[in-house]
Amino acid sequence: MLKKLKQLFTSHGTSDSGNSFFLEVRCQKCGEEFNLYIDKTTSLAQEFSESGKVSYYLNKEILGGRCPVRIQVRMEFDQNRTLLSRTIENGEFLDSQA
Ligand SMILES: [Zn+2]
Repeated sequence: MLKKLKQLFTSHGTSDSGNSFFLEVRCQKCGEEFNLYIDKTTSLAQEFSESGKVSYYLNKEILGGRCPVRIQVRMEFDQNRTLLSRTIENGEFLDSQA
């Protein structure tokens, strides 16, 4: 009985979620919140440095329904699509208070 339960748990224990994430931002002007699903394999643009290294970046413009402010997000990733840095204009990242 116990053995069976263990197997059930371990088979569901791993989930590969490294290829996507949620971009959660809030408009600085009106406070509208956005929750965008980003698929790293299709949403990121490739960039080559002079030394031939590959990196990735994401430019996102978000226009809400309540005000004319356009939120601009720029995220940079390394060759493994790991987030290196990010900047935002006219808004803030909801997960930045950690
Ligand atoms: Zn707004």
